[in-house]
Amino acid sequence: MRNDRRDFLAKMAAGMALGIVAPSSVWAVGEKRGEKAKSKYPKLKCDVAVVGAGPGGVPAAIAAARQGAKVILLEEDNMPGGAPVDMYVPFICGSPRVGVFREMIQELNAHHTIGGKPCSTFGKTGSDGKNHWWMPSSFAEVVYNMIDKEPNFTLMCGAPVVGVSVKADGNRNRVTGVRIMRNGEYQDIEAAVTIDATGNGLVADLAGCEYMYGSEAKSDYNEPVGIEVADGKVQPCTWMLISERIKRNAVLPIDKLKGSSAVEDNLNRWVTAPDKEDMIRRDAGIYLHWGKTVYCKDTRDPLLLAQAQMEALDKLRENLAIWHEAGYAVHLAPKIGVREVRRIKGEYVLTANDLIQGVMPDDKIANAHYSFDVWGMKIPEEMKHIGPYGIPYRCLVPLNTEGLLTAGRIVSATRVAHSSLRVQPICSNIGMAAGTAAAMSALQKTGLRSIDIKDLQGRLIRMGLFEGIK
Ligand SMILES: Cc1cc2nc3c(=O)[nH]c(=O)nc-3n(C[C@H](O)[C@H](O)[C@H](O)COP(=O)(O)OP(=O)(O)OC[C@H]3O[C@@H](n4cnc5c(N)ncnc54)[C@H](O)[C@@H]3O)c2cc1C
Repeated sequence: MRNDRRDFLAKMAAGMALGIVAPSSVWAVGEKRGEKAKSKYPKLKCDVAVVGAGPGGVPAAIAAARQGAKVILLEEDNMPGGAPVDMYVPFICGSPRVGVFREMIQELNAHHTIGGKPCSTFGKTGSDGKNHWWMPSSFAEVVYNMIDKEPNFTLMCGAPVVGVSVKADGNRNRVTGVRIMRNGEYQDIEAAVTIDATGNGLVADLAGCEYMYGSEAKSDYNEPVGIEVADGKVQPCTWMLISERIKRNAVLPIDKLKGSSAVEDNLNRWVTAPDKEDMIRRDAGIYLHWGKTVYCKDTRDPLLLAQAQMEALDKLRENLAIWHEAGYAVHLAPKIGVREVRRIKGEYVLTANDLIQGVMPDDKIANAHYSFDVWGMKIPEEMKHIGPYGIPYRCLVPLNTEGLLTAGRIVSATRVAHSSLRVQPICSNIGMAAGTAAAMSALQKTGLRSIDIKDLQGRLIRMGLFEGIK
C-alpha cells in the first residue's frame, strides 16, 4: 500500500526500519544514543503502563488493576476522559455497552443527567434505546470517582508521553516503558507491558511499529466497500460545541444556523425541523452540535490540527454571531474532534468483509456492533448496517513487537472496518480486553503472544464483557 511504503521508506531513511530490531536499549525520542538524560524526577515502575485516559485507556487501566496488576495511567490532558471530555464527544453510538463502560454510563445517568430526571432503565446492556449525552466534564468526574476506588492504580494527568524505551528481544523489539515530559525534564516509567491507548498511535509509532494511515484501495484487502485507488486520506475533523440559553424565552435559531449538521437537545431528541412552536413547548435549554467539519492535511501533526481548528473557527464565525444574537452562549470544545489518525498494524488486520460476515474469531476478545461510518466516503445503504462481529486479540498485538498492546480506535483494521469499531463502547470493550491481557502477561511473566486465550476469554466473560449481544 502506498502509505505503508512511504512510511517504510521514511523510517528507513531515519534509521528506524520497520520490524528491524533496535541494536541496544535506546530512547526513540528525548535522548541521543549513548547519552543519559538527567532528571530530578525518579524512574517509576509498574506492571502495566497505559498511555491515554480515553474510552480505550480508562477501561484498560481499570481492568488491569482489577486483575491485580500495579498500573500507571498517563494522560497528557489535565483531566481524564479523552474525546468525550476534550473534544466534546459526549454522545454514544454502538454497542454492546458492557463492563466498565456500562458502569460509567449508569453513573452518568444516576448523577449527571441533563435531561431532567435520572434514568434508571439502563438495564443489562447499558442502553434504553434512547439517545443520550452528558456534560463533557461529567465524564471526567465519573472517571475520577471510578479510578479512586481502584487499588494498585496511579493516575498521572498532565503527563505527555514523548518517548518509548525499546530493547532488542530475539527477532522482535521489546517495549520496556515510556518517557513523559515534565516541567522541562523527563520522567521514565518502566513497565512489563505498555498499552498504547492514545487514539493517535504515537507510542507504537515511536516504538517503530508499522502502521496504516488513510484510505487503502478496496482491492488491498478485497473489500466490497471503499475506494478504487488509495488516496491516503483520513476522515475529516469536526469541531463539536454546546449551545446554552442565557436569555429568558430565547429559542434556538435552528433555521438560521448555516450548514449546521446534527443537533441533539438535553431531552434526548434530535432537533431536525425548524418547528418553533414545538421547540418552545419542549423548552430545552442546552444543545449538542456537530459544529463545523474540515479536512486536516495530516492528523498526526498537532500543529496542522491546530491549523484545521482555526479554519473551522473561520467557518463558524457567522453562526456564532447568530447564536449570540438569539440569546445563546456557545461552549467550544477545547480540541477539534479527530476521527482518525494511525491504525497500528497487528498480527491480523480486521476488514470490512469480517464485519459484513459477522465473523466471531476463535481469539475474540470483544463484541462489537455498529454500522460503517466513514465521513467523506460513500457507503451503499444496503452495506451500511451490519450485524454484530468479534474483535480478534491479534488486532491488539503490533507486528514485530513485544511488551506493547494497542487499545481503543487504533487497533489493526482497514479504514472501513475502523469506521465501525471507533465508537466509544467498542473502544472500551477492546480496552478492557487489552488491560486484562496485559495484566496476565505481566503477572504470569508470559509474552503477549503466549498468554492463554481461553483463560483471557474466561476472565472477560466473568466481567460481563460478552453480554449484550446474541
Ligand atoms: C467529531 C467526532 C464525533 C464522534 N461521534 C461519536 C459518537 O457520536 N458516538 C461515539 O460513540 N463515538 C463518536 N466518536 C468516536 C469516539 O469519540 C472516538 O473514536 C473514541 O473516543 C476513541 O477512544 P480512544 O480512547 O481510542 O481515543 P481518545 O478518545 O482520543 O483518547 C485518547 C487519550 O489519549 C491522550 N493522549 C494522546 N496522546 C498522548 C500522549 N502522547 N501522552 C499522553 N496522553 C496522550 C489524549 O489526550 C486522550 O485523552 C466521534 C469522534 C469524533 C472526533
